Amino acid sequence: MTVATQNSKKLDPDWLTRIYMASIHAIALLALLPSNFNWSAVGVFFVLYCVTAGLGITLGFHRLIAHRSFEVPKIFEYFFVFCGTLACQGGVIQWVGLHRIHHKYSDTTPDPHDSNKGFWWSHLGWMLHKIEADGDVPRYTKDISSDPVFRFMQNFFIPIQVVLGFLLYWWGGWPFVIWGIFVRLVVVFHCTWFVNSATHKFGYRTFESTDTSRNCWWVALVTFGEGWHNNHHAHQYAARHGIKWWEIDTTWMAIWVLRTLGIARNVKLIPAEVIANRSVK
Ligand SMILES: [Zn+2]
Ligand SMILES: [Zn+2]
Repeated sequence: MTVATQNSKKLDPDWLTRIYMASIHAIALLALLPSNFNWSAVGVFFVLYCVTAGLGITLGFHRLIAHRSFEVPKIFEYFFVFCGTLACQGGVIQWVGLHRIHHKYSDTTPDPHDSNKGFWWSHLGWMLHKIEADGDVPRYTKDISSDPVFRFMQNFFIPIQVVLGFLLYWWGGWPFVIWGIFVRLVVVFHCTWFVNSATHKFGYRTFESTDTSRNCWWVALVTFGEGWHNNHHAHQYAARHGIKWWEIDTTWMAIWVLRTLGIARNVKLIPAEVIANRSVK
């Protein structure tokens, strides 16, 4: 069965993912205990949030691998994908495949997180069910699925997180584990999910596109620039998502630094004349 028939029948629950998500959210609540709080732990949370959400998911999984909007030497590619793997949002091959399917079928039935099915579905609900798109991932990931390092990180993303947890426990005890692993995972989960939910519902449109994508400043703020989602849907190849001076895109700043240092090459950008002649003012 292909993705075209997704949702034509009732979807089965994905109990493994439900238990996984519920457990991480429940354990994160232990941060409310005063004994689990100290400012060093909050500092660890913030650094790992920047590394995993910014360098990992946004720069690595999304702009570098899913869209190939720039190139870096393989060792840097593995570093950024490793940072994304630490976000525990599944493996890079699955993540990239589902994201490419989202762009191909945006806001139609085969889209894994079709926003027409509601905010909850596009934010989280789609992950709690067995969806047809899961079976189509191999067709969309032929360029990365045979890479042994990607496959290792795909298969072992949870053990890798457990090792990080032990390191944090050794360094700073339970407060470091609760804030550096569980609170950080929950925060990064929801920031990423807002790109699928909020930026297909709230904000303004700069470009005409066949989907419901919008530019939403507060999502851009918490996702290192991913909230300029209408700009992105209209020009998926571009490494820079914020195009107006106030559309702050910190991931573009990082890519600019990598390009200036000679590490990033073939950086793809929206041509200036396209921005000047945008179809929605
Ligand atoms: Zn994308
Ligand atoms: Zn989208």
